[in-house]
Amino acid sequence: MGESHALVSAPFTVHSAGYRRLRPDAHPLADSSGYVFEHRAVLYDKIGPGVHPCHWCGRELIWRYGLEVDHIDFDRANNAPANLVPSCHRCNTGRAMARRYGREVVR
Ligand SMILES: [Zn+2]
Repeated sequence: MGESHALVSAPFTVHSAGYRRLRPDAHPLADSSGYVFEHRAVLYDKIGPGVHPCHWCGRELIWRYGLEVDHIDFDRANNAPANLVPSCHRCNTGRAMARRYGREVVR
């Protein structure tokens, strides 16, 4: 007692980019250090392994090889299954750029 157990007992860590990351376990998507991002784990549970089409353009994607997890509402802390869809890198970054710069890019 008296020690700070709050941090070590949290079910996830907060990544510097704002993503929540699960603590190490034996998840199939875990990286070499044993971590897996929570949004990836949630979507994996939702759609399972294998090939999945990009939610936006339909391009076929594979976990670990181009399949990215897109937050539909752009809220990286909202990892509800309904908020997560598979996306290719182009669509994922394109949506983020369009949201960030929007019409301000247009001169
Ligand atoms: Zn796409």
